Amino acid sequence: MDKEKSTESSDGFGNLGLDPRLVATLGEMGYEEPTPIQREAIGPLLEGRDVIGQAATGTGKTAAFALPMLQRIADSGKDRAQPSGLILVPTRELAMQVAEVMHKYGHKLKITVIPIYGGHSFGQQQRMLERGVDVVVATPGRAVDHIRRQTLDLSGISILALDEADEMLDMGFAEDLETILSETPAERQTVFFSATLPPRIAGMAKRHLKNPVRIQIAREAATKGTAPKVRQTAYIIPRGRKLEVLGRILDLEDPPSTLVFCRTRTEVDDLTERLSAHGYRAQALHGGITQEQRTRVIKRLREGAIDLVVATDVAARGLDIEQLALVVNYDVPATPDSYVHRIGRVGRAGREGVAITLADPRESRLLKQFEKQTRGKIEIAQVPTIADLRAKRLELTRVALRESILAGDLDHYRVAVESLAQEHDLMDIALAAVKLAHQAAGGDKDGEEDEEREAKPQPREAREAREERGRGPKGQMARVYVGAGRSAGIRPQDLVGAIAGQSGIAGNQIGAIEIADRFSVVELPEELMNTVLQAMRKSLIKGKNVVVRRFVEN
Ligand code: AMP
Repeated sequence: MDKEKSTESSDGFGNLGLDPRLVATLGEMGYEEPTPIQREAIGPLLEGRDVIGQAATGTGKTAAFALPMLQRIADSGKDRAQPSGLILVPTRELAMQVAEVMHKYGHKLKITVIPIYGGHSFGQQQRMLERGVDVVVATPGRAVDHIRRQTLDLSGISILALDEADEMLDMGFAEDLETILSETPAERQTVFFSATLPPRIAGMAKRHLKNPVRIQIAREAATKGTAPKVRQTAYIIPRGRKLEVLGRILDLEDPPSTLVFCRTRTEVDDLTERLSAHGYRAQALHGGITQEQRTRVIKRLREGAIDLVVATDVAARGLDIEQLALVVNYDVPATPDSYVHRIGRVGRAGREGVAITLADPRESRLLKQFEKQTRGKIEIAQVPTIADLRAKRLELTRVALRESILAGDLDHYRVAVESLAQEHDLMDIALAAVKLAHQAAGGDKDGEEDEEREAKPQPREAREAREERGRGPKGQMARVYVGAGRSAGIRPQDLVGAIAGQSGIAGNQIGAIEIADRFSVVELPEELMNTVLQAMRKSLIKGKNVVVRRFVEN
């Protein structure tokens, strides 16, 4: 039995003292519960305390300082002739990002936010500032420019936040930060957030923070060292490629059952819908789902009626599914603890589980923390290519055929093979049979016909080419990939001419030649391979520069 429990979080955002309008917004955004940094920072910040927090990107740190700032500014009732809140960040991307989430969180409170960064029109920023705004999110250099030209008045700042303080120091903004800090009123509330807390940050905090609350999230957890046997892999990819990469991973790993984690309810629903649209049997699990639905989803996963469950941390709590083979962190979990819990769902019953994390480049720091926590290695993998997928599918067909041969009981088909053998070579018959079996198993998916053709030149064509050359492969042969094919007007004699001509080997040492639309594969004795590759590196085929390399077999 699952340790089923209500997924309605009893210790949600409301309990932290946040304004019901903010809590409602977070609910609409699909946030189910505060992350640890939020749980610890929001209360003291709402009380007006200074805070120094150690938290990396991905921990939910932005909301941790943004929500209390919005609420306190709304509560103060101050007009926006001068800004009340100032957030300093190291880069323009972060300035835009933070301003956008501030806007999202704060829209019900009618708080206005603008980003100010270098590379953007100074005059335009000046006009926005003149119009009045509640919160400014700025890079230090540009903020100092505005201060000098007196277009940014910091005399009304009641809350100042430094986000990624260590990075700002590393980027050489120390002096700018001091200038800005000195321009703000001494009685302001100050927040420092930083992924690391080197002595320079501690020194700055000592000078500028008043009796701060210290929050450190990346501390050791009780679970350290007890992590299950799990193969851990991460893909570092931009957000926009996640769905595509997830699809490839699922196709390549082909796991019997998978749990995919997202951060928010909205993301869970969205991803479930998109995966379903791509033909995966996926169902959602999050705090907005009834107990009855939840039980049904889990039952269906156990029975193999669905392949994938997409869940939030809250919904997956207490979930115990023996046959789970793969956990995917579609979003990096907010803490090492959460990572350990998530990946602990696989690798049960002594089997090796697989945990895959999709991380934004900025989130790679968290991966290091996860490694520490699990005392395991997270391998950073290359995204599987279409060729990898094809190879994998073909391998599945090969295994299925091998099993069929071992199982025997094939006499029924003998008559068909014998009849074909009167006209055709046995190898060709086998190739055609494999092709049909492969296609029937879904090996050739819609829309991939072109690429499939590219990866595996048609058997008939190979045969024809071989006949044309009047010889078959012999000895220890290897294959060379040539990046030009039929569409470039390549014929077997062009390849023989180029290879023999450039590398000085005899034409009759060249074996079978296969020509596909966009490339060709040429068989050569293994011992001549390096000579040919060397010679072809800079040569032209039909007047074109063409890639020539060893052909990697499926
Ligand atoms: P940050 O560490 O501030 O860069 O946040 C990382 C991501 O987590 C952002 O995409 C946030 O929208 C998201 N996030 C922050 N807090 C929560 C939460 N309590 N629940 C779900 N997602 C969150």
